[in-house]
Amino acid sequence: MPNGSDFDVIVAGAGPAGLAAACLLARSGCKTACIAPDLDLATCSDKHEPVRRTVALMQPAIRLLETLGAWPEQLQQHCAPLDLLKIVDDTLAAFSAPTVTFSSSELGDQPFGWNIPLDRLVSVLGSTANSEGVTLIKTAVSDCNVLDGKAQLSLKTGDRVSARVVIAADGRQSVLRRDAGISVNQWRYDQTALALSFSHSSPHHGMSIEYHKTSGPFTTVPLPGKRSSLVWMVRPDEVEAICALSPDQLAARLQLEMHGDLGLIDDVTTPVAIPMSGMAARKFAANRVLLVGEAAHVVPPIGAQGLNMSLRDAAIAAEAISDAIRLGDDPGSAGLCAAYDTGRRADVMPRQAAIDTLNRSLTSEFFPLHLGRALGMTALQNIPPLKRRAMLEGMNPTGSLPRSMRE
Ligand SMILES: Cc1cc2nc3c(=O)[nH]c(=O)nc-3n(C[C@H](O)[C@H](O)[C@H](O)COP(=O)(O)OP(=O)(O)OC[C@H]3O[C@@H](n4cnc5c(N)ncnc54)[C@H](O)[C@@H]3O)c2cc1C
Repeated sequence: MPNGSDFDVIVAGAGPAGLAAACLLARSGCKTACIAPDLDLATCSDKHEPVRRTVALMQPAIRLLETLGAWPEQLQQHCAPLDLLKIVDDTLAAFSAPTVTFSSSELGDQPFGWNIPLDRLVSVLGSTANSEGVTLIKTAVSDCNVLDGKAQLSLKTGDRVSARVVIAADGRQSVLRRDAGISVNQWRYDQTALALSFSHSSPHHGMSIEYHKTSGPFTTVPLPGKRSSLVWMVRPDEVEAICALSPDQLAARLQLEMHGDLGLIDDVTTPVAIPMSGMAARKFAANRVLLVGEAAHVVPPIGAQGLNMSLRDAAIAAEAISDAIRLGDDPGSAGLCAAYDTGRRADVMPRQAAIDTLNRSLTSEFFPLHLGRALGMTALQNIPPLKRRAMLEGMNPTGSLPRSMRE
């Protein structure tokens, strides 16, 4: 890439959100670059670590992958469909909630979504971006200035590139967000997520089980065969002791935490520990920069919302930009940024608030919160239209989906 190259759009960040946006933009004919320090087409080979982190993507996100040609058989064979979601109150609180089971068959003949190994998803999206003609630039963005209707980016290599609009998908510490002058609201949770996978002797029947414990949710999600991934929220002071357990001790501990629901546990991968925090950008777009994914919002992994929201950000940003370019309009205009900000906040903020409230209702000792959670779960279990609404809202946001996610 020659120094000084000019693009229609630059995407900073090559996580799943940034790559999805870059693929959509290039497909629609925009001259697109994707810049990230960890962009490495070698990772698009078939060399993969044992599965630790997975993401559950709901049907609209799967349709986006299909639209992009990024849902090939080679990826699907490592993923499992999610047919049933069970929530079990394991808090032993005075007001305990009933067990609630959601079945995708109540909505139609498709699963709720699929559980996908994160590194394989990123590999497939990276390969797709490459074949769509995205210019892939392996370095970090140092800073971004807006001059004469263009975003000018300085790269760590010393090169400079420019574009009419930038998609900031550069994660929670986003440099692009900082340089667009967007401040954030952020907070910490007294929790660390442990992510791992394990095999089990009993079949999972396509069921994800979310055990609500006083340290937060302990969520198993099916993988192919008799294997599942796990996200286990623990208190930070428990992490060291859990990670020091031998594989057999850890398997025994997991079996106990699941009350033997998946039978005997074996072949547990080393846990990855991720401290939990929350963040919301005060604006989702400004100064020719549109925030997507964790550059815009961070939520704890509850109810599989994080990347599903991020892929909606990516698709909506990419469609708005490519429509503007096709119509001869300015793709980084203040009007486009304002419409993106309003639309995305309406989707993200209520979900972030609901996740935060549910999480705090588990870890807090404030009993009215326990009562509220128990009443909410009882209503979900006993009022079928409410349960159906909750299932639909978990999968499809209220309002219109981006074109690339529609059936
Ligand atoms: C344990 C766990 C389980 C989860 N499970 C689910 C789930 O089941 N379903 C779900 O929907 N979500 C889930 N999530 C959330 C999901 O994993 C995240 O939302 C998603 O991975 C974030 O993707 P992203 O592309 O926004 O950011 P990232 O993946 O963080 O990518 C950021 C990119 O920006 C790049 N970058 C950083 N700085 C710069 C710079 N200066 N210049 C250029 N590039 C830069 C990085 O190198 C990287 O390529 C889970 C999260 C956790 C922690």
